[in-house]
Amino acid sequence: MRQYDYLVVGAGFFGATFAKIMQENEKKCLVIDKNDFVGGLSFTQTIENIDVHRFGAHIFHTSSEEVWSFVNRFARFNSFINSPMAIYKDKVYNLPFNMNTFSKMWDVTTPEQAKKIIMEQTKNSTSTKPENLEEQAISMVGKDIYEILIKGYTEKQWGVDAKDLPAFIIKRLPVRFTYNNNYFNDKYQGIPIEGYTNLIQSMLEGIDLQLNANYFDQKEYYDQMAEKIVFTGPIDQYFGFCYGYLEYRSLDFITEVLDIENFQGNAVINYTERNIPYTRIIEHKFFNPKPNQTKTVITKEYPLAYEKDLPPYYPINNQRNNELYEKYYTLSRTIPTVLFGGRLGEYKYYNMDQAIEQAMQLARQELNP
Ligand SMILES: Cc1cc2nc3c(=O)[nH]c(=O)nc-3n(C[C@H](O)[C@H](O)[C@H](O)COP(=O)(O)OP(=O)(O)OC[C@H]3O[C@@H](n4cnc5c(N)ncnc54)[C@H](O)[C@@H]3O)c2cc1C
Repeated sequence: MRQYDYLVVGAGFFGATFAKIMQENEKKCLVIDKNDFVGGLSFTQTIENIDVHRFGAHIFHTSSEEVWSFVNRFARFNSFINSPMAIYKDKVYNLPFNMNTFSKMWDVTTPEQAKKIIMEQTKNSTSTKPENLEEQAISMVGKDIYEILIKGYTEKQWGVDAKDLPAFIIKRLPVRFTYNNNYFNDKYQGIPIEGYTNLIQSMLEGIDLQLNANYFDQKEYYDQMAEKIVFTGPIDQYFGFCYGYLEYRSLDFITEVLDIENFQGNAVINYTERNIPYTRIIEHKFFNPKPNQTKTVITKEYPLAYEKDLPPYYPINNQRNNELYEKYYTLSRTIPTVLFGGRLGEYKYYNMDQAIEQAMQLARQELNP
């Protein structure tokens, strides 16, 4: 008999959800994380009485009743609605693309006028089936919006020409002919009032937890502790990169405390010019305003090409990487006592609610094989 039913590597949303459900079903879990904090990428740290999202803006949104009621067991959420703005050459535009954006861009007031301009700008587009991001974007919002608000931002974000990016990246971009600045279409949205780290800590209550514990530093020791392992770190790293490295886009977050109350007047502002090196500035206090916040904390996000030792943020799901992932996935199926999950274990961009949903699904499978 081993000491634990499951060793869960990673205390992000995936690992914490899996461990919680297993604990509630009388299974014994040990959760370990190489960080000295829980929460993974959603980690929030209090600076100057402001909850700072250390790894980029994290806004919780979901349409799943099950996920929403699950997270609400561990935290109270505020009613934050994400309404980002974009700045291009000192002009400010509303996002997502909606009537506010169109009226600023073209001085129009009605949906009919906006649609007419977009139609005029798309009618010369040569392709009926967009082959790349540029063609896809122009077919959705026309040339002006593409050139002013999409091209520079996207090329910075991915480090390649928009013509060389797949069309699917932008397919789900909301475009609305209403005056609605809410970025997400989901039924529920908000920010945990006490921060994500407290939410995850509360999820992990009563579950054995070790921080500063890198699985690879003591792999044999950890392997003999549990019947099964749930691994939420990078799948290629688990297999010693035997087939090669999966590629990611990385980011550098430069955070500053400013001795002023209000820097930009909004939580998220995108900078869409190609020659401004950062993609956006986050002003954290606007996610969760509290009394006595006399200073402000901002973070500039600089996209970076991925190198082996940089943190992996966005998977680059091109053909090379997808094929490589398939090889690792096939290899993972040969060891049924190790289960891979989460954004790094499955090499997939998951929103937090999707990571929770996937962890719930894996837990169900384990409980009802
Ligand atoms: C810049 C950015 C912004 C985002 N914004 C949003 C947003 O606004 N809304 C939204 O819903 N989602 C957002 N996401 C997605 C969100 O971060 C993910 O859904 C979430 O992190 C998935 O949780 P996870 O547990 O799979 O991964 P993670 O949070 O990365 O957790 C994995 C954990 O495993 C640990 N680990 C890895 N290897 C080891 C090891 N060898 N030993 C021990 N521990 C290990 C890591 O330290 C980490 O804590 C954003 C992502 C990025 C990159």
